This record gives sequence, structure tokens and C-alpha cells, in this order.
Amino acid sequence: MSPSAAFLKYARQNTPRYTSYPTAPHFHEGVDARVVSRWLTDLRPDARGSLYLHIPYCREMCWYCGCSTRATRRDGPVATYTELLLEEIGLYAERLAARPRIDHVHFGGGTPTILSGVQFSAIMARLRAVFEISGTAEIAVEVDPRLFSAGKARELAAAGVNRASLGVQTLDPAVQKKINRIQPAQSVANCVRDLRDAGIDHVSFDLLYGLPGQTIQSCLDTVRQALAFEPDRLSIFGYAHVPHLKRHQRLIRDEDLPDTEARIEQALAMNRAAREAGYVPVGIDHYAGPDDDMAKMAATGTLHRNFQGYTTDRAEYLLGLGASAITRTPSGYAQNTPDVVQWSRAIMSEQLATVRGIALGPEDRLRGEIIERLMCDLRVDISALSARIPDTIPMPSMDDLLEDGIVHREGNQLTLLEENRMLARVVAARFDAYAPSNGTARHSPSV
Ligand code: SF4
Repeated sequence: MSPSAAFLKYARQNTPRYTSYPTAPHFHEGVDARVVSRWLTDLRPDARGSLYLHIPYCREMCWYCGCSTRATRRDGPVATYTELLLEEIGLYAERLAARPRIDHVHFGGGTPTILSGVQFSAIMARLRAVFEISGTAEIAVEVDPRLFSAGKARELAAAGVNRASLGVQTLDPAVQKKINRIQPAQSVANCVRDLRDAGIDHVSFDLLYGLPGQTIQSCLDTVRQALAFEPDRLSIFGYAHVPHLKRHQRLIRDEDLPDTEARIEQALAMNRAAREAGYVPVGIDHYAGPDDDMAKMAATGTLHRNFQGYTTDRAEYLLGLGASAITRTPSGYAQNTPDVVQWSRAIMSEQLATVRGIALGPEDRLRGEIIERLMCDLRVDISALSARIPDTIPMPSMDDLLEDGIVHREGNQLTLLEENRMLARVVAARFDAYAPSNGTARHSPSV
């Protein structure tokens, strides 16, 4: 079934992905290491936290990459970075009032599996020395199947890793060539086998649509092959082509990119395939088995969203460690410099590497909660949230979305119709006090 004209109209609008509110482009230099240190000291001693560790190195650049990373063939930079990361863990721990309890640890990148077993174990040992990592904590690692082996899987398992997120993206060899990521399906199969043999049973896959040379058929072939591996979660993201921000994306030829309508049809086809295979849609772009925690939390309105996308993490704060990583506390967001040299200098001077962020006021918190509920539940009861948060905001204009049948409104309750779940970003943007209501070229299309 083709998308309606109204769906297409909104799907084309450029909107933020809302992994935070306010979104990162609105962070400013007024939030520095001194401000963050105060925010950390202000945390309740019994508050639950989570950790994100960024590893900004890959062996080579994939041309579609939107991450903060750089290519290196040498092991030296990774070793130096690891040493400084160990120091940075201590700097954060010193600023916290107590030995905090941590329920989630996520290693992202870049390519965390570029770390040697010794380096990874050293980081986990340091984390366990200064934080109370709970026995049931989720310890997740983003995995590049091309840099993996049975030995690597055993090392990760021995260090406590219990979830792996595989960058699969596309299994079409012709598309892989156009994005400089040659990754035979067999390497994904071997990686999944090695992880499961090592006892890492929770495996998620990331797939993309909108890549150069992709067609509906190649997207469907990829999603069906991927589903045959029975991942417990699947995310299906649209490729964001922003060559003005990511220079290496200039290696992708514009004429190879599917047009907006083709992109949307690819997204819808992949969505249908995942649902037909029994996966439950979660938010705008995730899918999970019906018994998975993420699907259960989505069904009960308790799911959350952070910089990694949807998460079962309920922690009150997130410490972002490493270059470019973002810390979130109830007081605000704070981002480390993405420049590894600048980050290294800060850590060597025993300073946090914060260069920007934003403090949250009551209105930001309310708008942030509304946007998070819309992105997670596809519905929001603004009166219920306003009663809990001591501030209120006027309902933004929704007339066009109501007339076009995208949302349903009853009093102060808004609900996206099921067939429009992928448009949650468009509805969320109406509550964004920082963004123009008609979107900007700075962001990618909503679908
Ligand atoms: S492996 Fe991942 S992080 Fe590294 S260049 Fe490729 S897409 Fe980017």
C-alpha cells in the first residue's frame, strides 16, 4: 500500500530525532566543566545512574557514517585513549557524593570492538572499582561484525557484556560497495554465532534504508535475511545525508540516493516485514519480540529515549565518558569536546572535557517529557504531565495535523494514529520551543 499524500507531506519535513530535548544544536558554551561538576555534586547519593563510553576510532570510514569517529590503522592512539578514559572515569567518580549504583553501561562509537580484550577488561575493572555496577546491569557493546572473532566474544562475555548491538545496515553487496562497508552476510552469521556461543544472548541489529543504490527489494532482502538470525531487537533508521556536516559523505553520489518517496516506501516495506515476522513496533523505528523488555515497557508507557535511541534504562542520570559523549543530569545536558586532542589535554590536566551543554528550566523539562512520551508512546496527556511538573505551556497549533488525520485530539490528550507512528517527530516538533515549526535543512527528513 502506498503512503497517502498527507503522510508524504509530513514525512518530507526535516525534524530532529529528539534523542534529547533541547536538542544538541542548542547546547552552548555557558555549560563548562565547572557547571557540570556542580551538577554532579548535586545528585542525590541514592540516585541510580547509567554510563555511556564513547570509543571514537574505526579501522576505516564507512562513507554514510554520521558518528563522531576517525579512522586509524594503528593501535597506539586506541591504547593512549584507553589510558585517558581510565583517568576520566576517576574524575567523574571523584565528583559524585557516593559510590553510585549503575544499572546500564553502553559502549558506543566508533567501534568499541577495536579495543583489545585487555583494554576492555581494564575499563570494566575501573568502572567496577568506582561504581556499584548492579548484578543485573545491562552491559551493552556496539559491535562491528567485520572486526570480530570467537575470542573477542569470549573476552566481552568474561568482562560481563550481556548485550551486543550489531551494525548490519545492509546485506546487499552492491549497496555495501557504494557506502564503503563490505560486510558479507557470512560475517554477520559468524558474529551472531560467536556471541551466542560465548553466552551473549541479547543481540540487536541496526539496519538502514535510504542508502545509495538501495531499492525496496534490496531493503526487503536485507530485513528478511536479518530476521532469519532472530535478533531480539531491530532498529530501522533512515540514512541522514548531510555532506555539509560530514565531509566523507561527499563520496556518496547524489544520483545514487533514492528520492524522498522511494525512501519512504523502503521504510514502510521494512516496517511491514518486521511486523509480519512477529516483531512489535516500538516508537518510530525500533522493533522487538513481544516478550522483550523493550516491547513490554512500550506497552505500559514506561519506555525512555536517550542518545542511543529507545532504551529500557530508567536511570536519573547518564554520565557520558570519552570524546563527544553527552552527560545528562536533572540539571541539564553537558557535552565533551569531540576533538580527541582537546579531550586528551583536559583529562591530562585532571579536568572534565565539557565544552557545551544546556541547563534545564521547568518549561524545558515539561516540553522534554511531552516530546519523550510522544516519541515513545505515540500519545501524550499534557494535563497529566502538567499536574506533575509545576509549569504549563499552551497547546501548540495542531489544526493541519488534525485535519490531515495524522493525530487525534481529545481535550489535552494527543494520539498519533497507528499508521502514522513514523511521523512522531513531526508532532513532537510542535512542542519544541527552540525549533521553527516548519523544520530546517539542518535536520534529516522525518522518515
Ligand atoms: S564502523 Fe560505524 S562508526 Fe565506524 S565509520 Fe563505519 S559506521 Fe561509522
